[in-house]
Amino acid sequence: MAEDLHIVEQTLEQLGAETPERVAALFAEVRADFDRAFGSVTDEASWHALRDGWLGRKKGVLRLITENWLKPAGPALKPAAGQGLNELRAYVEGKKFGAFTASATLVAEKLDLSLPGVERALGTRHLVRQTLEEIERIFLRLGYAVVGGPEIETPYYNFEALNMPEFHPARDMWDTFYVDTPPGTPSQLVLRTHTSPMQIRVMERQQPPVRVIVPGKVYRRDNPDASHLFMFHQIEGLAVDHDITFADFKGTIEFFVHEFLGKNAKTRLRPSYFPFTEPSAEVDATCIVCSGRGCRTCKQTGWLEIMGAGMVDPAVYGFVKYDAKKVSGFAFGMGVDRLAILKYGIDDIQVLLQNDVRFLRQSP
Ligand SMILES: [Zn+2]
Repeated sequence: MAEDLHIVEQTLEQLGAETPERVAALFAEVRADFDRAFGSVTDEASWHALRDGWLGRKKGVLRLITENWLKPAGPALKPAAGQGLNELRAYVEGKKFGAFTASATLVAEKLDLSLPGVERALGTRHLVRQTLEEIERIFLRLGYAVVGGPEIETPYYNFEALNMPEFHPARDMWDTFYVDTPPGTPSQLVLRTHTSPMQIRVMERQQPPVRVIVPGKVYRRDNPDASHLFMFHQIEGLAVDHDITFADFKGTIEFFVHEFLGKNAKTRLRPSYFPFTEPSAEVDATCIVCSGRGCRTCKQTGWLEIMGAGMVDPAVYGFVKYDAKKVSGFAFGMGVDRLAILKYGIDDIQVLLQNDVRFLRQSP
């Protein structure tokens, strides 16, 4: 320990150090002594004793070196003595005993509870998802159940059972993606072109009364533009019971339009054609952009087409073994993406799929 270091009690001259190299060698000797002493430190008390012996202001080794080596040194040795002393001080002060290492870790890991937190970026629900859920809630209040179904369908469910036999010209209304099937598998598959196949699947496994809505993705071979997507979302609705009339259909649609677009929105039915409804109608609602006065969005008509619908064609009941003389009902299908851009005033439907965070962040 420090007591054994008699060399620091003598001057460089007394030690016979006449060159800077010799001074450096003396410092190396002193440092080796410190290392030996440090190696025998066993607890915090002996560590404190060692540090006091080296760094103590009055009798510490570094103090003695300052007094005995540095101060009396001539100009030839002073730089070497100063440099050696600085390096030795840094070395001794930099040494840490185990317990101190632990406490340094604690210092580094200390929690400052007064610091402001890191804000966690939460995602928002996509506008289409929100619109789907909004529509679902409206029909849930009317007692409808929500069901899902396969996006890859057989032509039977997508077309045939909906009163569209093979080569029926109405199939051209749906630009269909056909799915390649492995050789040996019996039938062709399609990406469903509408959610209507679920009408059949639901009625096959359930007797009236039926009241369901079917939200989901559908696929059409459309060229993408400001109002067309090749994949979009539909909500299908189906109500079948023993005494459902066209008035029930009209009342349900009006309720939906009021809930979705506001109490002032009016509804208009235009005759149309779908193979699986008879009679069929296109449902228009008051344009929400201009409130019916006429604008670019509604092509100056004051009306927006919001869904296709109609009374279920009796021929369809034959496919699900319902008695067409005893049951009646209505069905409707609406494009959710289109309703979303109408309701929120978006002029290009493509932004729904582009995943631009500047757009996505605007969802409430
Ligand atoms: Zn308008």
